[in-house]
Amino acid sequence: MRQQFLSDNNAAICPEALAALVAENATGHAIGYGDDETTLKAERAIAELFETDCSVFFVFNGTSANALSIAQICKPYNAVISHAFSHVQWDEANAVGFFGSGASQLTINTPAAKLSLEAVSQRATQFEGVHHVKVNALTLTQSTELGTAYSLDELSAFGELAKRHQLKFHIDGARFANAVASLDTTPAEMSWRRGVDVLSFGGVKNGLAVGECVIFFDKALAHEFAWRRKQAGQLNSKMRFVTAPWLALLKDDVWLKNARHANAMAQRLAAGLQSIEGVSLMHPVEANGVFINLPAALQAGLRDKGWEFYTFVPPNGCRLMCSWDTSLETIDAFIADAQALPPAPAG
Ligand SMILES: *Cc1c(COP(=O)(O)O)cnc(C)c1O
Repeated sequence: MRQQFLSDNNAAICPEALAALVAENATGHAIGYGDDETTLKAERAIAELFETDCSVFFVFNGTSANALSIAQICKPYNAVISHAFSHVQWDEANAVGFFGSGASQLTINTPAAKLSLEAVSQRATQFEGVHHVKVNALTLTQSTELGTAYSLDELSAFGELAKRHQLKFHIDGARFANAVASLDTTPAEMSWRRGVDVLSFGGVKNGLAVGECVIFFDKALAHEFAWRRKQAGQLNSKMRFVTAPWLALLKDDVWLKNARHANAMAQRLAAGLQSIEGVSLMHPVEANGVFINLPAALQAGLRDKGWEFYTFVPPNGCRLMCSWDTSLETIDAFIADAQALPPAPAG
């Protein structure tokens, strides 16, 4: 189908990753289960990118990256503080509870899919004693499910709060690259230097076919994680076909180029649509998604013209996702179609 705005996972594999897959395939045989040269190189490249010694594990997808890393830092009677509108809470069929052998989530519903310090603090100290879950972890999403991003100062404050309350700090970074690009910072600045212990680092929405990465900055936390991954069915026997494309993403900062492009397309889209009567942004565009109120008639008119996107927060709140390959032509055609539709009735 032509380019649409449903999700950044609707895009194909980026050329660098695809070329790496083909090149890896031409090398003949290699040892399985990640004990190969390519995987070793990818692990080293991740550590280099993050400028620190860390434990790196590749898994098939983001749900397992999140659930297994949270399971790793929670005991069955523990709870992780999460946002009510987070992927871990809303979109993962309680994989945290399943892989965490009963570990639960304490959710918070603050605006823009962003946790607030006050609310996290309240949750962290809400329970005392043996009759309640023992809160011991915090997870947040960067960039968030509503296209916003935490600033470095906000992340620092969460890191300090986590330390103060002895919470392990996890980030769901399915769109970590987009946030790095948007904040114009580095992976290290946006993770362990802010006190993050574990990161789910996304590659798929950035241009891969398969394979997300779990990074433990505190290597002690990774103790026996290899078994957890294996038991969960997340150890790929032909791991090099996940890690060769990963290496291609990391080489020459292709990941950053892809993220910057997707973000720039989102900015252009937001700017163009806001010139239309009755259209207003729901949230600032701080990554590759545009969350925007489109009047019902405008939505219907765009869909009649063949455009696809989600009404994420009905009736008017729409989500328009841009990806590494979203073209200028696609953006401009969408804006032109929107501008050509009759203006929304007033009121
Ligand atoms: C896409 C996404 C994931 C990963 O989901 P999978 O479908 O399991 O790969 C995780 N977190 C967020 C915020 C996402 O948008």
